[in-house]
Amino acid sequence: MSTVSEAGVVSAVNKELFIGGKWTAASGDATLDVTDPATGEVLCAVADASPSDGTAALDAAVAAQADWAEVAPRERGEILRRAYEKLMERQDELALLMTLEMGKPLAEAKGEIAYAAEFFRWFAEEAVRIDGGYAVAPNGAGRFLVTKQPVGPCLLITPWNFPMAMGTRKIGPAVAAGCTMVIKPAEQTPLSMLALAGILAESGLPDGVLNVVTTSDAGGVMEPMIRDGRARKLSFTGSTAVGKKLLEQCAGTVLRTSMELGGNAPFLVFEDADLDAAVDGAMQAKMRNIGEACTAANRFYVHSSVADAFSRKLTERMEGLAIGRGTEDGVVVGPLIDSAAIAKVSELVADAAQNGAKVLTGGATVDGPGNFYQPTVLTGVPAKARMSSEEIFGPVAPISTFETEQEALAAANDTEFGLVAYVYTQNIARAIRVSERLETGMVGLNQGVVSNAAVPFGGVKQSGLGREGGTVGIEEFLETKYIAIGGLS
Ligand code: NAP
Repeated sequence: MSTVSEAGVVSAVNKELFIGGKWTAASGDATLDVTDPATGEVLCAVADASPSDGTAALDAAVAAQADWAEVAPRERGEILRRAYEKLMERQDELALLMTLEMGKPLAEAKGEIAYAAEFFRWFAEEAVRIDGGYAVAPNGAGRFLVTKQPVGPCLLITPWNFPMAMGTRKIGPAVAAGCTMVIKPAEQTPLSMLALAGILAESGLPDGVLNVVTTSDAGGVMEPMIRDGRARKLSFTGSTAVGKKLLEQCAGTVLRTSMELGGNAPFLVFEDADLDAAVDGAMQAKMRNIGEACTAANRFYVHSSVADAFSRKLTERMEGLAIGRGTEDGVVVGPLIDSAAIAKVSELVADAAQNGAKVLTGGATVDGPGNFYQPTVLTGVPAKARMSSEEIFGPVAPISTFETEQEALAAANDTEFGLVAYVYTQNIARAIRVSERLETGMVGLNQGVVSNAAVPFGGVKQSGLGREGGTVGIEEFLETKYIAIGGLS
């Protein structure tokens, strides 16, 4: 562990807006408080941007676009590579900063820094692989040249649950493609993004390529930028409700969009599953990030013949988890982000119980300061319970049973969301059949975590549009241009 103190990591971060390569106070010197969700105490204050600060950030991104697009792909890649190295060198201090503002246990925060850094390493490699094409026209007379160009200035909006990785998953491909950007992190977790801006500047990112705007007025600051007409793309990660609102705003200027929205992941355990592996996977899929992940298993469907054994094993594992402030040794369950999250989880559990679910363990908040909720297992959760259709975003595992594969698939697909699904079975034919029939963008097959910088991450249905990461991730930030070549004879 690094010797850096909690106060040290917080004070090391520049708290101003980052616009045109300069750290700048918000208009009127407005600030907003950042709070530790484990204690409820204020950690520090950061600049609170107004709509005019947002416009200044967009001005800077627009001004930098033409020169940035001319920078050689290799140079763009090397900036990302240097930033990757720096993130890994500072993994401990950045993890501590993230734990303080977001609450996740330190080990998970360290994992997120590595995951976040991996997007920079991956897109450093992709920057030099932007391809094109050359073809003879079918009539033999002309030639077709196809090339890819940066989309242009981008608006990026990220959520609080993965404060660093959701940023690098957008910034990495945008930088690699040659786009400039304004990024707005979540109000609750601005510090990780501000630290990242400092690292990118140190890594040689030219002024104006990345601009960071922190604000307590997300809608007021972003809407004018979206409607302005000079930005060429919006990439958003957050809730489906906000994503829909932003899509409407984007329609006004036909702004290109990538939308990484909410999930409601089913976790299917068939009678032929390796039950211990399924419980291991369930713990990862449910408890990663204290259940506050878009990929979190939200509904467990278990074959009736193994349901009792699965529920018992899962309950034992959940009861053994240490709850506490993420900075404490051995803690694996940190606080939820705020009191509203606690209220929502409590409401959903009460609703499930009223609808006949049985609480095997947990089912209550933890006394004392901070936003803590007990790891919870529920059985007999009916389809009409709200948590069957809403994202829980907390440490609650609702279990229902099924008899047939068809029934399991129908239940799994009975949602407007389609981000990820998990399947546990040892039968290869069933594994492929079920994976293909699940209406999701991703499937974890005998695996409880799907996130990786090298894969196309994203959802179908109301879980989003587009993919982040993998070889397709950079395409979201590129336009294809076709040049017709004539006059050759
Ligand atoms: P959220 O309320 O939608 O907020 C996400 C971001 O949007 C924040 O930066 C927020 O700013 C901003 N925002 C809110 N209202 C806005 C508006 N009117 N105009 C412009 N920006 C606005 O979501 P959240 O609660 O932070 O995050 C949790 C959600 O994100 C869950 O649904 C989760 O599934 C989803 N998520 C999806 C993925 C994925 O890859 N599919 C990954 C992670 C999370 P403020 O913080 O200032 O409100």
